[in-house]
Amino acid sequence: MDERHAPYAEMNLPRYTSYPTAPHFSPDVGAETHGAWLADLAGSGAPLSVYLHIPFCKEICWYCGCNTKAARRREPVADYVDVLREEIALVSGMTGKGGVRRIHWGGGTPNILSEADLDAVMSSLRDRFDLTAVSEHAIEIDPRTLTQAHVNAFARAGVTRASLGVQDFNAHVQAAIGRIQPAETVARAVTMLRDAGVTGISFDLMYGLPSQSVDDARRSARMALALGPDRLSVFGYAHVPWFKSRQRLIDADTLPDIRMRGAQAAAVTETILEAGYMEIGLDHYARPDDLLARAARDGGLHRNFQGYVDDDCATLIGLGASAISNFPQGYAQNSPDVGQWSRAVRAGVLPTARGYALTPDDRIRKGIIERILCDFEVDLAPLGGNAAFPEAVARLAQPARDGLVTLQGDRLSIPQDARRLARVVASAFDSHHQASPARHSRAV
Ligand code: SF4
Repeated sequence: MDERHAPYAEMNLPRYTSYPTAPHFSPDVGAETHGAWLADLAGSGAPLSVYLHIPFCKEICWYCGCNTKAARRREPVADYVDVLREEIALVSGMTGKGGVRRIHWGGGTPNILSEADLDAVMSSLRDRFDLTAVSEHAIEIDPRTLTQAHVNAFARAGVTRASLGVQDFNAHVQAAIGRIQPAETVARAVTMLRDAGVTGISFDLMYGLPSQSVDDARRSARMALALGPDRLSVFGYAHVPWFKSRQRLIDADTLPDIRMRGAQAAAVTETILEAGYMEIGLDHYARPDDLLARAARDGGLHRNFQGYVDDDCATLIGLGASAISNFPQGYAQNSPDVGQWSRAVRAGVLPTARGYALTPDDRIRKGIIERILCDFEVDLAPLGGNAAFPEAVARLAQPARDGLVTLQGDRLSIPQDARRLARVVASAFDSHHQASPARHSRAV
């Protein structure tokens, strides 16, 4: 890592999967506004993406930053599925039977649902929405609890892509993060999925984990590549135990320092690129013939709550506790509390906890930040040029001297060796951001 870049890598910055980011949502956007945005979709013919959140896992990994909790009994999950089906009916009662292009199941662990649960939710979706033009149907899975019955249900549902949490294949790292997952378990899951016709396989890997060396990170990447995924995501572990109490189980003294994190990130990237994959945005990789890679080449890459996507739907309907919906008008987030979410839905009321209505200025900045993180360059000329963003230009003066960004006329671009720090450049355009170590992750 360039020595001048090290202080920037220490900065705690948003991932910008939305703009403004979720900490800026407020209760000013409640069920009424959310309902009005949904009602605007009725009869519009607007294509929809649907996100289903399943906030349960069999057990909790110590590093996890997701909104999930352990469910060792069947009842809470079965109740959750019933309410989720009611929420699908409630929402479609407002939107009408809109056409869905994309479905994404996230969590938590969607495969904590039984095959009957999966069938039941799919039946509700089919009854209430038009699924005939779904082009991508993805599900996040925990390979440790994947069964043949799940995979059969995925095939019936038309799942096209499974995203597997791998993180690290080394036994001592797995012990240090509370997730024991032998490589054979992952290989078995991949074989089951492919045999059932779920041919899109994505892996999540992590660096910056406790007791993880640069060689460990590289070895994990090699082992992951040997299984032939068509996409990989590589994330730096964000240690925020004051925000996620489960992370207190991780010994902070065993975490790699910022330089080692940089070396791990570089080693993983190099390993993946040597295998012929294309780098997508900050932290994704795909085979060159993959749709995500094509979108990246054609300027069609987008960023949403699932990270980098080739999804150009302007509307994402989030279902389930804590799920965030994204409308042309703004964001609406469901209550993260399963009890509150459930009571609202059962009362026939949208379970909206908070949200954000975009201003015209937000829309412009949202677009700039998305292009910076997707394309690593943006032309400000159509937006009034540099002069329209004096505070951002001032904030970028020092990063420009340190080689993080180049400003030529109204065109801003990020050099190859500074791409991992693109969030630093993006944050210069964020008129809401105030540095907050409690909320955000390190830039590398
Ligand atoms: S399985 Fe995934 S969502 Fe569940 S605790 Fe582990 S990392 Fe978090």
